[in-house]
Formats: sequence, structure tokens, C-alpha cells
Amino acid sequence: MARIPLIAGNWKMYLTVAEAVELGRAVAASSKGLKDREVMIAPSFTALAAVIEAVAGSPVKVAAQNVAWEKEGAYTGEISPVMLQDVGASMAILGHSERRHIFGEDNAMVNQRLLGALKFDLTPVLCVGETLEEREQGATFKVVEEQLSQGIKGVGSDRISRVVVAYEPVWAIGTGKTAGKEQAQEVHAFIRKVLAGLYEKKLADEIRILYGGSVKPENVDSLMAQPDIDGALVGGAALQSESFDRIIHYL
Ligand code: PEP
Repeated sequence: MARIPLIAGNWKMYLTVAEAVELGRAVAASSKGLKDREVMIAPSFTALAAVIEAVAGSPVKVAAQNVAWEKEGAYTGEISPVMLQDVGASMAILGHSERRHIFGEDNAMVNQRLLGALKFDLTPVLCVGETLEEREQGATFKVVEEQLSQGIKGVGSDRISRVVVAYEPVWAIGTGKTAGKEQAQEVHAFIRKVLAGLYEKKLADEIRILYGGSVKPENVDSLMAQPDIDGALVGGAALQSESFDRIIHYL
């Protein structure tokens, strides 16, 4: 089965509701008629409902930037998968490095979030990636394998192809430093090999692995030309409609 590339914008903690609606409309216009790729945007929680309404009728999928694992309960500050379903979100980013490193989310918590997302029919985008220190210590593969295998723990063969993985080297996020295309491809191929070991090759070949870390109009084409790069998770360059438009229309 051919993997449909996914270009995803993570809007992080930016934009008012009005600004998010304006950008959402621009992304919907950019995505009109696209058949060979999918587009996703992840506004802040406060803008989700308005952005979902703004892109209605377009192929753009709207994601949350995180999700809790229970339907409801005493979890102050969290948003449940049912609440996301209720507003019409269809995907959720999990384990973003900012969640891991600023807010202390560990692999076990990311796993709970991922299982919660799957249980309530949200497509999870599981982020994994090493810090600069870990790369310099030669620990990239070990860290990525741990984050991946622990993140998807408990997901059976019947559901694994619904998971999207995003390789985001922490040293490349928001820094302007992108992993070289061969450097990124090497880790993507490794991720697919780990998945093939945990499931089977056929299933591993169906899973989309996005690259994230300073993806820009200037580097998207060469990254997307790599055989195991199936899309991009874009932060900074997703906040301007012109640059995201060019990224969506990678060659
Ligand atoms: C991100 O937020 O996931 C990201 C990759 O950010 P940036 O593109 O700005 O590096």
C-alpha cells in the first residue's frame, strides 16, 4: 500500500482565534484539489473549534497538540479525546519534544496519551527524537528506539498503521538547523526497521514517518525526495501562509 504523504503544521502556542481562522482559511485554499498528499494543522486548543469550522469542506485535517487518555475526570488542565471528537478534531500530536523537555512528559505518559487517542478514533502523531547531547554521545538510535517502542506499547497489529510517527531531532526544532537529508533518511529507515521488528514488514511499510525540525520552503523538496520520509511536521514555517503553501506544494 502506498503511503500518502502528510504535511502537518504545528502552530504551538501562537495565534489568537481570529488569526488562527485567517491562517486556517489560507491553508484550506492552498490545499484545494490536492489528491496525492494530506494536510494537517494543529492550532491551540482555544482555536480548535473555530479553525475546524473555517476549514470545513476542505481536505485539511485538524489536530490537537496533545490529548489526555481518559474520557473525563479530575484532570485539571487536560483535554480528553472525547472533547476533541466533540469539536471535530481528527488527529492529535503526542510526545512533542516541548512536552517532553519543558513539561516533563515521559514515555509512559506519552504511551497512555497515544492509547487514549486510538481508543477514541483520533489519529496519533507520535513525536520522537534525540537531543544534541544524545546525538553527540552516539545515542540517537537508542533514544529513538526507546521513545518509539515505549510510545506504541500495547498497540496491536490491527491498529498500528493508524499511527503516524514524526522524527524530530530536538536540536533541529526551532533552531534553523535541519538534519541533512541523508541524516534524516538514516533515522527514518531505522524507525521503519524497528517497526518491522515489532510488527511485520508489510505493516511497517504502511506507517507514515514525518520529518520535523526547521523544515522550510528551501529544504522541503530534498527531504521529501528521501524514500522513508513520508511528510513533514512544520513549526515556524507553518505560521506564515506563503511558506506553508510552498511546503504543501513540495515537488
Ligand atoms: C515543531 O514544532 O514540531 C517543529 C519542527 O518546529 P520548527 O519547524 O520550527 O523547527
